[in-house]
Amino acid sequence: MIERGRFAPTPSGRLHIGSARTALASQLAARARGGRHVLRVEDLDSARTKAGMIDAMIEDLAWVGVEFDEGFRCQERPHSPYLQSERSALYRAALDGLRERGMVFPCACSRADVEQAATAPHGAEPIYSGRCRARAEGAVFDEARMKGRTVAWRFCVRPGTVSLDDEVAGRFEQDVQRDVGDFVVFRADSVAAYQLAVVVDDITMEITQVVRGADLLASTPRQLLLYEALLAPAPRFAHIGLVVDHRGERLAKRARGLAIAELREAGADPKAVRDALLRSLGAGDDAGPFRLDPSMAAAISLEELRGNGLPMDITAKLEGV
Ligand code: GLU
Repeated sequence: MIERGRFAPTPSGRLHIGSARTALASQLAARARGGRHVLRVEDLDSARTKAGMIDAMIEDLAWVGVEFDEGFRCQERPHSPYLQSERSALYRAALDGLRERGMVFPCACSRADVEQAATAPHGAEPIYSGRCRARAEGAVFDEARMKGRTVAWRFCVRPGTVSLDDEVAGRFEQDVQRDVGDFVVFRADSVAAYQLAVVVDDITMEITQVVRGADLLASTPRQLLLYEALLAPAPRFAHIGLVVDHRGERLAKRARGLAIAELREAGADPKAVRDALLRSLGAGDDAGPFRLDPSMAAAISLEELRGNGLPMDITAKLEGV
């Protein structure tokens, strides 16, 4: 079977240095296994996708030397379309399939309801109490109508631990029912939730390996449950460390992180940036042999990237340090 890796960015801002590093890792991992690298654009959240963002992101990827064999704006597009906003029929069909098999239920709870009923505060996302799971569908639809809303659809999470052997992060286990609860697969605004869209896309695009940022490791058990429910084999996963500042804060989250566009505009040499990112992945300057391994799990700071040759003068100036 031919290996198929993918990079699936959300065009909500300019491509960040950490995403460029992940994209390079994804490409190298696919190529090292003699496989193909696919570009899919995750623009489901249209409010966050501003006009021109997709083109800008593709230019930034090309500038840093990330290549795609197939996908959005590529010559080869056997699994078209590669824009999530154009794939809603597939997500809807997956939802219908899950519904027929009783694996999802409608939910009329608003965000405030979910927060209020949450059994315990848990990070940014409250744990769903399970309120609508036990109710008759008709009652849930009636409640939604009375509230002037449409229902969301949640996945019936089975109890117990879900585990994965990540090629970079190692063994990861999560009790999804306890830690997350029945999660949303289709939002009340009738748009597929990320968790469902990403799984449907990776199944239909025949992806065999997913290399992505460590921030998505905690989503993976939810996605594994969806692979199981959709009766599809899951790809291998590898979650790469994020780029952080000296306080350990993720650069991408900051108002002024380090975008590839800023490096371009400041006149950085693309080869120097690419080589620094490759070196930080243990890949050497020439994109030679490459293996995913546990050393890539740790977050990496700009200082370390500078140590790997990221142009010091330019990044220091941009970061104001
Ligand atoms: N679109 C997601 C992001 O940009 C990545 C999804 C994935 O790789 O599974 O954060």
